[in-house]
Amino acid sequence: MPFPYLTDELKDLEAAGLRRRRRVLESAAGARVVEDGREYLSFCSNDYLGLASHPALVEAVQHAVAQYGVGAGASHLVSGHGALHHELEATLAAFTGQPAALLFSTGYMANLGIVTALVGRDDEIFADRLNHASLNDAALLSRARLTRYPHLDLAALEKRLAASKARRRLVVTDAVFSMDGDIAPVPELLALCERHDALLLLDDAHGFGVLGAGGRGVLEHFGIASERIVYMATLGKAAGVFGAFVAGPTELTDYLVQRARSYIYTTAMPPSLAAALGASLRLIEGEAWRRERLRELAATLKQGLNLRRWRLMPSTTPIQPVIIGSNGEALAVSEALRQRGIWVPAIRPPTVPKGEARLRISLSAAHSSEDVAMLVNALNVLERKKTDYREGRKGFHVFPLRPSR
Ligand code: PMP
Repeated sequence: MPFPYLTDELKDLEAAGLRRRRRVLESAAGARVVEDGREYLSFCSNDYLGLASHPALVEAVQHAVAQYGVGAGASHLVSGHGALHHELEATLAAFTGQPAALLFSTGYMANLGIVTALVGRDDEIFADRLNHASLNDAALLSRARLTRYPHLDLAALEKRLAASKARRRLVVTDAVFSMDGDIAPVPELLALCERHDALLLLDDAHGFGVLGAGGRGVLEHFGIASERIVYMATLGKAAGVFGAFVAGPTELTDYLVQRARSYIYTTAMPPSLAAALGASLRLIEGEAWRRERLRELAATLKQGLNLRRWRLMPSTTPIQPVIIGSNGEALAVSEALRQRGIWVPAIRPPTVPKGEARLRISLSAAHSSEDVAMLVNALNVLERKKTDYREGRKGFHVFPLRPSR
């Protein structure tokens, strides 16, 4: 082996309960999924509205493929920008109430492109400590100074903004935090940005489609709009498809077309996915019952869970994390649930802070209240079991997981 450190590091990860493994899904995304021939009740996916395998989206893709083929063939600036992409951008702009929208191939790439285009060496980025990895990577790539503030700590942010001597200031935050499910205080953040002449980049990956009466996301939730806000959201979560977009003033999207390298130097998304997203937006707008169902399911979960050692986080979104603490125990509980036919992922550092390993329960409009009741019952039973899942204790028999194949 020419790179022995790879083997060593893999062993270290294994020993720390941090080695990640992929599971191979044999079904469509949904409330029930099949892995290794067995069906599981799934609380894993970000398909919050249950649209990822909706017949209207499937039909839109089939139609579009018949007319436009499969691949876009080139980047947007060469010849890959098709009528379906163009139409989707107009629809996204109208849907979010912004003058313009620009489509990116993924949310990760959107964040890289937006941040590196907007700020550079002489600038400063202020980032919530629990922001998504793509925002942190984007900040590093931009070469701007990166100042991270404690989660949701407006006073700390204000202090740092006031002390900044940078040419430009950019505050970046998840709108809904992906591993905690809490919502950023956008009106207060905007007020700070106004006071200190900063731009505010909102990553609404987990709010778009879910928040607001019409599913328009965090800005609708708070009823605010400002030219100071750069609004970004992803289309592979509640929208059920793939991709991302940024919406805002036309000058912003025009500028990003010139400067966002992850927009310029990559193949456009397959046109059929843009068609699927058109169908998805119609359902997001027209089927408010999906958001209502999510609220009911979250209430069922909250009322039913009766935990002593573990802790359900106070989230009002479909992301409902249960903090377990140790990596080993989180993995063991996740595995014990799997043995009962319920799939909830254990999330460990570095995705979440050390000592805060958790089960990330994500609810979907495709779940029934009986599905959530099953999960509640299993968690209540597991927490009280004599088995002590904590590392180094006797009875630690559920872990390790099956070896990967
Ligand atoms: N931002 C946030 C907050 C996310 O949770 C994610 C996906 N996990 C992304 C960006 C990246 O989006 P995508 O999966 O489309 O690359």
